[in-house]
Amino acid sequence: MAKSNEKILVVEDEEDIRELISYNLQREGFEVVAHETGEEGLKAAIELKPSLVLLDIMLPGLSGIEVCKKLKGDPKTGSIPIILVSAKGEETDIVVGLEIGADDYVTKPFSPKILVARAKAVLRRKEKENEPAETTDGMLEIHKLSMHPGRFEVSIDGNSIQLTVSEFKILQYLAKHPGWVFTRSQIVDAVRGDDYPVTERSIDVQVVGIRKKLGEFGNYIETVRGVGYRFKEKEDEQI
Ligand code: CA
Repeated sequence: MAKSNEKILVVEDEEDIRELISYNLQREGFEVVAHETGEEGLKAAIELKPSLVLLDIMLPGLSGIEVCKKLKGDPKTGSIPIILVSAKGEETDIVVGLEIGADDYVTKPFSPKILVARAKAVLRRKEKENEPAETTDGMLEIHKLSMHPGRFEVSIDGNSIQLTVSEFKILQYLAKHPGWVFTRSQIVDAVRGDDYPVTERSIDVQVVGIRKKLGEFGNYIETVRGVGYRFKEKEDEQI
């Protein structure tokens, strides 16, 4: 079912189609406001700020394309998603409409089910766009390894690996400086946190754990005898 605050504006001059669309959207729980002309539709869109506009292309007076252009061109209404409703043979208008910012289109005759599905898909997409953008700051990518520090996520070749916070920090520290050798005490200093004590001896244990979790990729963490550890700089062809 639709969320209670989702209002859809339908602009369509053909009464039968206007009623068909309105009926099917209302049945899904959407609040529907319908208008017959481009001028009325434009005015309603500006006033109501609907969640979505279903906009017929061929309208008396101001065409759907013109309405779309005005709405998308105005910062106050530019983010309102628009689905164009077109008749056969209006491909050129559809292309123009999509280029000026329409989000999707349906071609008459359409099944109400498809129309509702398209409307929901566009609304979902919009909702996703409005979520706070994921930060990729500090994202680390080397060989097939990718690490997202903000979320403590690790993946190799797209397969997610579960590491503890300290394992994550050790791997991150080494992988950030491939080819460099770090002593255990340097690693301790780099990854020490308040909640989890890290000692030089525990680094060895953690590295064993990391290697195990990384499988073959674990070979990238080299033991430098008598010194400490190093993340291989060169991509290993066997891995
Ligand atoms: Ca029409």
